[in-house]
Parts: sequence; structure tokens; C-alpha cells
Amino acid sequence: MVASNLKMQTKKLKIIPLGGMGEFGMNCLALRWEDDIIVIDAGLMFPESELLGVDVVVPDITYLVENKAHVRAIILTHGHMDHIGGLPWILNEIKVPVYATEFTLAFVEGILEEHQLLDETELIEITPKEKFTIGPFTIEPIHVTHSMVDAVALAIDTPVGVVIHTGDFKVDLSPLDGKLFDLHTFAEYGKRGVLALLQDSTNVERAGFTPSEIAVIPRLDEIFSSTKKKLFFSCFSSSVYRIRIALDLARAHGRKVAVIGRSMVDSTEIAQDLGYINLPQGLIINPGQMNDYSPEQLMVLISGTQGEPMSALSRAAVDNHKYVSIEAGDTVVLSSRVIPGNEKSIFRVIDHLYRREANVIYDDGSHGLIHVSGHGSQEEMRLMINLVRPKYFIPVHGNYGNLRKHAQIALETGAVEHAIVIEDGDVLELDKKDVRKKDKVTTGRIFIDSGSSIDVVEDVVLRDRRILSEDGIVLAMLIIDKRTGKLQQSPEVVMRGFGGADITDEAREVVLKTLKSLSGEEKADYGMVKEKVRSELKRFIQKNTGRRPMIMPVIMEI
Ligand SMILES: [Zn+2]
Ligand SMILES: [Zn+2]
Repeated sequence: MVASNLKMQTKKLKIIPLGGMGEFGMNCLALRWEDDIIVIDAGLMFPESELLGVDVVVPDITYLVENKAHVRAIILTHGHMDHIGGLPWILNEIKVPVYATEFTLAFVEGILEEHQLLDETELIEITPKEKFTIGPFTIEPIHVTHSMVDAVALAIDTPVGVVIHTGDFKVDLSPLDGKLFDLHTFAEYGKRGVLALLQDSTNVERAGFTPSEIAVIPRLDEIFSSTKKKLFFSCFSSSVYRIRIALDLARAHGRKVAVIGRSMVDSTEIAQDLGYINLPQGLIINPGQMNDYSPEQLMVLISGTQGEPMSALSRAAVDNHKYVSIEAGDTVVLSSRVIPGNEKSIFRVIDHLYRREANVIYDDGSHGLIHVSGHGSQEEMRLMINLVRPKYFIPVHGNYGNLRKHAQIALETGAVEHAIVIEDGDVLELDKKDVRKKDKVTTGRIFIDSGSSIDVVEDVVLRDRRILSEDGIVLAMLIIDKRTGKLQQSPEVVMRGFGGADITDEAREVVLKTLKSLSGEEKADYGMVKEKVRSELKRFIQKNTGRRPMIMPVIMEI
């Protein structure tokens, strides 16, 4: 044997982020040992408003498709959409079993059912502290606390050492469901030696500790005490802890609860079925029963904190909801964060609420603590690093700056040997001796139009071109009198790239009918007008031509 033979290629573990590293959302990461690949999380991202007509964004999974034969499983850390929302799209391309905890699976089932993928997908329930094996990987889910219940980190035993992926977490030392953060298990792994720690970077800019979920109770209790009329409570429908707090307060303050909005109804039901909320008999009433109670006896749990135009809250805000109306003196609590990019639609809804003379309480820093983050701040990050003491530290979930900062924080603790910043598509090769970035695989963002998980667009520019060439474009021009809010003349509809029968006149009728169906207040809300015109035209055109053109409503004020 000559010396050079010793330099023979040794086997390495590969870590390949496909989404969520270098951006927020669409978390997805592949772990590869030889011919076995497991995927951690399969998230989506909600598009910025400029992406007209694009409904969701998912990671490019070319790498997984090209290595289809080797992908063994998708393992989910928890049920937030930025971790599970891309599943239908991925499962369309590769058929693999999905592993997740009980609560996460309940959410996954809903999504897969919507996409007709439930029957053909193998779902496997995992439980904290119960190890399972997939090829060369033995995986232990470790319970962590987060704004979502039943969240886990994953300790993955590989042939070169243990890799821990935290998923999303904060260290909530008084969790509402009594399920404690399993700090002990992290410490045990730390004692035995951990090769790599992949840790959530979301709140890396925040010093200190993130407050517990229960920290919102005192302020919310005050709001319940001082509200004389109906109380509308809105939060993310996946925020089971927050829903539980609202329900408990409603009971304590003698209010019955009507649950409004599909996602809120589904989520509350799942949480009840799985024992995360305990509802006393008679607390929840049907929306139709609300008339039997006086305003001070009612709380409405309603979806739509981000001002989504079609959500229950947006519709109630313009007095266009079948069951609920918001009246002068009612209080509306938005117990959630204003997600950057959604400001416009949120403040539009808030304006409508003020116009109804409601009292609006939202998270702008001046209304007290009505919302807390689900992600750990710097001290929690340091705590975890101290417990795990990994050889290699790899920040995940965040834009490039966040990842850099997180790596620096890790190094400053003195508890890690190396901190490595990698981004989507980087292939990180590691073993006990060495770590290095190798090649790059294809990654990117895939834009998906509504309804279909197959109707995919590669890139916005490409998308526009493709749609223009294949499905055409529809412009709907509305000229509105600024003073009266009335339509000046018949709407103009222009269609390009359509063969066959001319349906322009019918399309114009659709626009007119849509406008007639709107209340004065809705008409004043151009965002809503556009969204309604777009969705009605889309339905009409698809039904009559089978095409999915790009539809652009344009409003001109004169
Ligand atoms: Zn999360
Ligand atoms: Zn997340």
C-alpha cells in the first residue's frame, strides 16, 4: 500500500438544505448517507403581493426527484404551514411515507385530503422518546415547546455521529398543556457527543428570552373584563394555545363562543379531539344561535388575522358575513403578529373595523402583551447550544443575515468547535474529522397557482411568458368615480391569446354582476374589488374554455 491510497474517499454524511436557508418559510432539508435520503420538513411560503395570481411558493425539489429511488421518508417537526404546506407538491413527485407526531398528522391529513393524496400516502405516527429507524438513520423525536402543540426536534443517529435538528422552538418553561420542553434529553445527547446541531434562527435578532405562551393571559383578561359588548377574538387557527386561552377566558367571563371560519372550526375540533382543549358542555354555540344571546354574553372566535380578503374577519369587517356583524362598541382583538408584507391588507381590515366603530386591539406595542412569538430569542439559542455542545453548529430557518448572526452567537458561547453557514442548495459534507461545502444542487422557488398542486410555474418571468403564450391574458378595466364610488361606464374586458368563441361580452357581464353583489363599503375597498373580480372571472373562464389565463383587474379612479 502506498501512502496516497490512504487518501481514499471516505464516506461522508451530506446535509442539503432545499428551502428555508437564506429565506423565511418553505423549510425543507435533505440528509443523505450513501444511497439513503431522508427529508426533514416540507414547507411552503406565502407569496409577496406582487406575485399576481400566485397562491403559494414551494421549494424546488429537483434534487429529490432526480434521486427519487433513494428518498426513504419525509419527517415533519410540527404542523405549521412553513413546515408541512409543501407536502402535496412533493408527494405528487415522489411517493414516500410521512412521519410526524399525532397532532401534526391531523393537520397533514386535512391538507392531503384537499389534494386527493390522503388515500395513497403512508402516514406514520411518531412519539417523543420513541426511536425509529430508516435505513442507516435512527431517529429520536424530542419534545420541544413552540407556539404550536406537539412539536419535536429530531436527534438523528448517523454512521458518523448524531445530528440534532431543533425544528422551531422556544423554551416555554410553563407550557399550557403541561408537556415540558425535554431539556434533559438534549443534555444527555450533549454528554454523549453530538456531531452537528441545526438550530432555528428565526428570532436571532431578539435579545433575552421569549415570554411563555401564558404571558398574554393578564392583558387579555383585562380586555375581557372591560369589554361591554361582543368580543371578537382572532388568532392564527393553528395557535392552539392561544385558542385555549381565549376559550378559558370566555368561560370565566360568562361568554358563549361561536367559532367562525373554516380553518378555525377545523383546528378547534382537532385540538378538542386530541385533548389539547377541554370544552365544558354548552360553551360553544352554533353561529345561528348567536341571536339568542346579548352582545356581552358572546365571544366570536374568528379566522383572518392577516387581512386575507376572503377570510371571515375581512368579510365581517365590511358587514358581509352570513352570521356575524360587528357593531359600534364591539371589541376586536387581533392576537397575532403583523407579518411583514401583510401590513396593507391588515390595516385595511382594521380601518373597516374602525369605520364600524369597533374597538380594535392589535399587536403594535401600545395595546399591551396580546401576542408572543413562538420562536426562542438569543438566550434560548445559547441555552440549547450549551446543552448540546455540538462539534458543528449549522443555523437554519432565516435569511442569510440571520444565519450569519446565529453562527456568531454560537461561536461566542465557546460550546461549539465550528459554525458553518450554508444556504439552499449547498451540499455540506461532514464526518467526525472534517466538514466542508461541496457542490451545489438545483434549488429555487416554485410558484403554484390556486387549486392545483400540479399547475406549477418555474419563475415569475417564465410564468408570465408561459401563461401569456399558452393561456392568454385577461384585462378587466373598471373606471370608478372617486366621489360617488360608482362605476363610470360598462367595464372593459380585453382578452388576448384566446382562440375559439368570443366570450368577451359574457365576461363583461360577469364583472358587472360581481360588482353589483358588492356592498358600498366593499366597493370602496379596491383590494377586495380586484380579488373578487379576479376570482369570478377565473371561475367563468376556466369553466367555459378550460384555460387559466393571467387575470389582471385594473381600477382607474376619475
Ligand atoms: Zn413553527
Ligand atoms: Zn417555522
